[in-house]
Amino acid sequence: MSNLNMQLTNNQTQAQAQVTQGETVMPLADSVILARDIAKTYHMGTVEVNALCGVSFEIKRGEVVSIMGPSGSGKSTLMNILGCLDTPTRGDYILDGEEVSKLRDDKLAVIRNRKVGFVFQSFNLLSRSSALANVELPMRYSGGGNHRKKRATEALQMVGLADRINHRPNEMSGGQQQRVAIARALINDPAILMADEPTGNLDSRSGKEIMELILKLNRERGTTIIIVTHDATISAQTQRVIRLRDGELEITQ
Ligand code: ADP
Ligand code: MG
Repeated sequence: MSNLNMQLTNNQTQAQAQVTQGETVMPLADSVILARDIAKTYHMGTVEVNALCGVSFEIKRGEVVSIMGPSGSGKSTLMNILGCLDTPTRGDYILDGEEVSKLRDDKLAVIRNRKVGFVFQSFNLLSRSSALANVELPMRYSGGGNHRKKRATEALQMVGLADRINHRPNEMSGGQQQRVAIARALINDPAILMADEPTGNLDSRSGKEIMELILKLNRERGTTIIIVTHDATISAQTQRVIRLRDGELEITQ
């Protein structure tokens, strides 16, 4: 176990104790996510769907956490809120020291671009663009072309694709495409990396390699990782599991 992980484990009990004290609690300095009583209600005509019914938890900088739960339990809803794609109906969400639960869409988009990297089950790469161009994409506000190209090249080296930078997605394996997506997610050095079933479309060997890569990036860069998964072999590799059932937190271990 690395020093970083050891420290996280030691601090965890303290963090949880502070969160359960309720509304007046301030986030710890090393808290990257603080969710307090987050609820989300969807309105479908006259029908209300309570997708999240008031969930509270904290995730510390550098933690690797998985979110599990049956279909319909609220995982995607929670991911969308934590990833600043949507805002809660009720509750507070403090991301990397900023209260983001009441932000307007345009402000939310700026925070999202700066603080969150996404990895999806289906890779979501631009099929006509090279690996390099795909990785450069989130760097719209990050200076000139040469700078972008250099950073994107380094990111592709980091995920082991130095020899594939000019290849397009259909010239790469699934595992390689997911590596490109991981490089793209990390290019702005986000506070959190959110992965939704990142190995769901991969064969078991490529899936294992992608999981190893994600954990390596956590160890070496200290990136906070949140993985939504159905797969118990994936969640077993994370430091903590957040379980949802019917929009409520089941167990936090
Ligand atoms: P999961 O990802 O765990 O399968 P979701 O967060 O997608 O769960 O969904 C939680 C509940 O909210 C489900 O009952 C689902 O039908 C409902 N729901 C999700 N998104 C919407 C939406 N955009 N409009 C209405 N209901 C939704
Ligand atoms: Mg879902």
